[in-house]
Amino acid sequence: MKRYHVTTFGCQMNEHDSERMKGMLDSLGYAEAAAAEEADVILFNTCSIREKADSRFLAHLGHAKRLKLADPTRVVGVGGCWAQSVKDEVFERFPFVDVAFGPGQVHKLAEFLTSDSLTAQGFFEFEGFTGHLPGKRAREFQAWVQISVGCNMACSYCIVPSTRGREVSRPADELVEEVRALAADGVREVTLLGQNVNSYGRDLRPTRTSFAELLERLDAIDAIKRIRYTSPHPKDMREDVILAHAQLPSVCEHIHLPLQSGSSRILKAMRRTYTRERYLDRVALIREHVPDVAITTDIIVGFPGETEADFAQTLEVCEDVGYDSAFTFVFSPRRGTEAGALADGLVAHEEKVERMQRLVEVVQRRAAERAQRFVGRSLDVLVEGTSRTDASRLRGRSRHNKAVNFSGLAAPGEIVPVQITGATSQTLSGELSLLAAASRGR
Ligand code: SF4
Repeated sequence: MKRYHVTTFGCQMNEHDSERMKGMLDSLGYAEAAAAEEADVILFNTCSIREKADSRFLAHLGHAKRLKLADPTRVVGVGGCWAQSVKDEVFERFPFVDVAFGPGQVHKLAEFLTSDSLTAQGFFEFEGFTGHLPGKRAREFQAWVQISVGCNMACSYCIVPSTRGREVSRPADELVEEVRALAADGVREVTLLGQNVNSYGRDLRPTRTSFAELLERLDAIDAIKRIRYTSPHPKDMREDVILAHAQLPSVCEHIHLPLQSGSSRILKAMRRTYTRERYLDRVALIREHVPDVAITTDIIVGFPGETEADFAQTLEVCEDVGYDSAFTFVFSPRRGTEAGALADGLVAHEEKVERMQRLVEVVQRRAAERAQRFVGRSLDVLVEGTSRTDASRLRGRSRHNKAVNFSGLAAPGEIVPVQITGATSQTLSGELSLLAAASRGR
């Protein structure tokens, strides 16, 4: 039996696409190898969000080249955003690559592998949803569900619109069917995926379905206990979506709301289409309807032209909002983006690093303060497995998407009540609450 190995870089959408790639290859009779060295087909699902992603991947590709030289019958394939971003030169620059395909062309890999001739081929159209392919989930009880592809925005630092194309939503009936099948297959938590997940449905014809309506239809599927989604855009965080968190039992109390910068001047330069005031207005509305919600975010430090005063505004928003956690990035110019071509107002590397240190201090301090609200409460935790830091304890996630390490007996995939006894900026700790467990007949 031929064997494959997939290395995945980047975002949850790539994790989803890799699960589909594996499911498709299994359905073709391939088996998964534990390492590239043991594989007949060596595949990479790449990311292109930052230059650094490229260089890390290129190191892996160099290793694949050596494996191919050692055994020329091996097939080397490159998929994902990086492949799409270098589609015109991939075979010239990397002649040992046999097949290259964009994020919208994973299904073409099957055609290539089952075709008579394995001469180098590239597939880069934006067509089809990997969500249509058979999946191979990393965890039986959790599933990614791709609800749309592409992005119609034009954030000046972002390569995604050029590597993933325009926004296309999957029909709501199809998604309801897919989630029903996942529920019947043991899934208890689904995470809805889209580059701009909450602008879902605008392009659907003849009947539009809004994102809030989709959440309502998926919430009605009994066996699904938790619905999450990523990544939303503040401009589309409408009240009906926020109310879905307040009213629909399975929609979790966690909203990821990328800020990027606290300065309206920099937000304009980033082409984010909202101001600091509009962003804070959304946060206020979220807290009004879902007081206990966890809010997380993305922030870029050192965008070209960012002054100390602009950065101070970012710190102010972080102090004000008090995020439960944040992904923080130092701006790195990305070839092929508007901001990547900017030459003026570049922030010195040392300055960026110094600002990042101050930002992380504020984010972590506020996150630790916010996390204290869970101490003394019993939280429902979806058990994921053994704690990474202590093999005698278990690990899981609360509905707020907080990592919880706890003592007690439970199986992966179970949702159990945990009495929270401690909290840091990153994780909560506790013990299986026997009382609540007893009241649930455990
Ligand atoms: S919303 Fe902006 S940052 Fe997000 S994928 Fe689209 S262009 Fe990129």
